[in-house]
Amino acid sequence: MIYGVFSDVHSNLEALSAVLDALTARGAGAWICGGDLVGYGPDPGACLARVRALPNLSAVAGNHDLAAIGRMGLEWFNPYAREAVLWTRERLADEDWSFLEGLPGRVDAADFTLVHGTPRNPPEEYLLSPAQFRENAPLVGAWPLIVGHSHIPLLFRFRAAAPEKVEARVLDEGEELLPRAADGGPAPVALNPGSVGQPRDQDPRAACGVYDSDRGTFQVLRVPYDIAAVQAKIRAAGLPERLAVRLQHGQ
Ligand code: ZN
Repeated sequence: MIYGVFSDVHSNLEALSAVLDALTARGAGAWICGGDLVGYGPDPGACLARVRALPNLSAVAGNHDLAAIGRMGLEWFNPYAREAVLWTRERLADEDWSFLEGLPGRVDAADFTLVHGTPRNPPEEYLLSPAQFRENAPLVGAWPLIVGHSHIPLLFRFRAAAPEKVEARVLDEGEELLPRAADGGPAPVALNPGSVGQPRDQDPRAACGVYDSDRGTFQVLRVPYDIAAVQAKIRAAGLPERLAVRLQHGQ
């Protein structure tokens, strides 16, 4: 199966459309969404409609999704994020609200495990360090573990030659061969496809991934989109200026 993998859309419709087109062109027949569909950006309803319509969709709730429907407190959100969450809440239609309410915290599929942050604290903990990968590994079902939340394409895996050590690095564009266990099944690896709607690795292009579960490969794609159009919508909506400016810098 070829999965289109994407996360952290954050109500950025132009970026989402570009990513879905790119992944469709790569043969995606099923979809994996790591959460944070809304928050920060100007098009929550249109983004939710696009994602809801995807066939064979596995999706989890992110912290912004939960905050938008009042299921997570706002005390940990910075002022810009909080303002955007409250702006979003006012604009969710009934079907948007019920779709977000129905998102699980975790998906255990036959050929991947999906959470927004980490298995031990799905919506909140950022998977950023080798120690966190090691600590969360026993809680994973089927590998690979696919996460979002940090807005940076990342890979974590135990080193083949020294399994007591964890390889952790940023993923550039290009195909990765996922390691195989002794029994031929997938070996432990965690993958973050980066963010569709608000990349934070100084590359402003939208990020997403292609996971081929038959070949055992994962590839990060970077997709240009009309950033100026989204910035104009953010300003027209009266959302914080900082949320517009950061898109052009990829941070
Ligand atoms: Zn996010």
